[in-house]
Parts: sequence; structure tokens; C-alpha cells
Amino acid sequence: MPSWLQMAWERGILTTRYPREGARAEEVPVTGRPPVPVSALDHLTEAPARCPTGAITLEAVDQGKCVRCARCLGVGFTLSGPVESSEGRRADLVWAGGLPGAQTNDGLLAELGRSVHVFMVDVGSCMACNLEVLALSNPYYDSQRLGIFFTNSPRHADVLVVVGVPTDEMVEPVRRAYEAMPAPKAVIAVGACPISGGVFAGTGGLKPSLEAVIPVDRFVPGCPPPPIAILHAILATMGRSRTPPGGR
Ligand code: SF4
Ligand code: SF4
Repeated sequence: MPSWLQMAWERGILTTRYPREGARAEEVPVTGRPPVPVSALDHLTEAPARCPTGAITLEAVDQGKCVRCARCLGVGFTLSGPVESSEGRRADLVWAGGLPGAQTNDGLLAELGRSVHVFMVDVGSCMACNLEVLALSNPYYDSQRLGIFFTNSPRHADVLVVVGVPTDEMVEPVRRAYEAMPAPKAVIAVGACPISGGVFAGTGGLKPSLEAVIPVDRFVPGCPPPPIAILHAILATMGRSRTPPGGR
């Protein structure tokens, strides 16, 4: 038996079993999980002052602004929220205490069957979100086993994945990419940057969010979000998302 075949036999299957099974702890770094308040928000007076992006107030936690810096750990928060943290409405990323509500927009592309093509546009990122998205096509995440393929043309794409804060220069290119896609189509904003500006919010030459440029169907919070959170968002547009045990 050739040695490479023997090695593969001995190693077994290394590809993640997500979404058939839940994400394992080692698949999601601690800072890939959303911060969850451990008690009532109005008792957590120190956390809002520590949060660099204004994600924490005494009334709510805005996951769309959170950059997972972990400064709120030890002052009333723990990074232990669900990896399936993407939402179909921007407003649902704002948790008024406790865990988020029901997911929305599931199955937007269900009529396409069990296969979609994804086109990614970087409108002004630090490159970290790009790498997490591209990791989906490596042998570990192996998105092709789930019918998720990357394409280099928006004309062949069903899903537009956008990373980064829209710079003034990228407004027209991303708009043209969106308009070139055939219907039905879905737009996924990956990371705090396209959702709220993230750490760059308020900087000159940037739009406040992707929603200010094109319609967005799914929001994946994080800085960057782990690949499994991005995978969950794509599966949600296909109507194949995994709901964690106990619901959300
Ligand atoms: S982890 Fe998020 S919520 Fe906590 S301080 Fe950092 S940005 Fe704010
Ligand atoms: S969300 Fe964070 S990781 Fe992603 S592009 Fe913005 S700064 Fe980089």
C-alpha cells in the first residue's frame, strides 16, 4: 500500500462534522464567541467604560459593534455566546440582556436547492475576515461537501459575502457586483466592519456600514468571526442552518 494511503488511513477523517454535529470547543477560539452578560446589565457599571467600540451600554449589548477584544471579561461578561450568532436583521444583533432571539431570514435561497455559489468582495478589510472566509474551502471545513462553492464572477454568484468597512472608493464596485448577480441572491456582511464600522467607525472616507450601500440579508458578528459562524450564515440562507440544542 502506498505510504500516503496508509497515512490517510491511520489519520482518519479530519474534516469538521459541522453542521451534522455542533461546533467543538477547539473549533471555536474563545474570542470567536460573543460576550454574554453574567448578570443584569444595569449592575455592570464598569463594562461600558472598558468597551472600546461602545458595544456595551447599561441597556443592551450590540454584537454588531463588538470586536471581541475581551476587555469586558471579569467585569460582568464572559465570551461564551453561541457560534451560530449571525442574524437576518441588524436589530437582532442588539441583545437586551441574555441570549439572542429567534433567527430570521432562514431559507432565503432555499429555492436554489442544495447548492450555492459564493462571491467575496473586500471593501476595506484588515485581511483577517478574508482569511476566515477562504478557510471554508480548505480540507478541514470543506464547504463543497455542503454544496457551497466559491466563484470569481458575480454573474455566477448566489451569495455575496462582503468583508471590511466600505471605503468611498469601493462603493461603486460592490454596488456593481450586487447588481450583476442574478436573482434570487443574498448578501452576507462578515465581521464588525461591514456591520457597524468596527474599530474604524467614524473614520473619514468610510461609509458607516454596508447597509448604507446595498441591502444586507445576514449579519455575522465578530472580529473576525470564526469560519463555522460564517458557514452557519451561508447555510442559513440555504435554509439548512443548524439550531443549537435548546434553541436560541
Ligand atoms: S469584547 Fe466586545 S463587548 Fe466586550 S469590551 Fe470588547 S468590544 Fe466591548
Ligand atoms: S471585522 Fe475585524 S477582523 Fe474583520 S476586517 Fe474588520 S477589523 Fe479586520
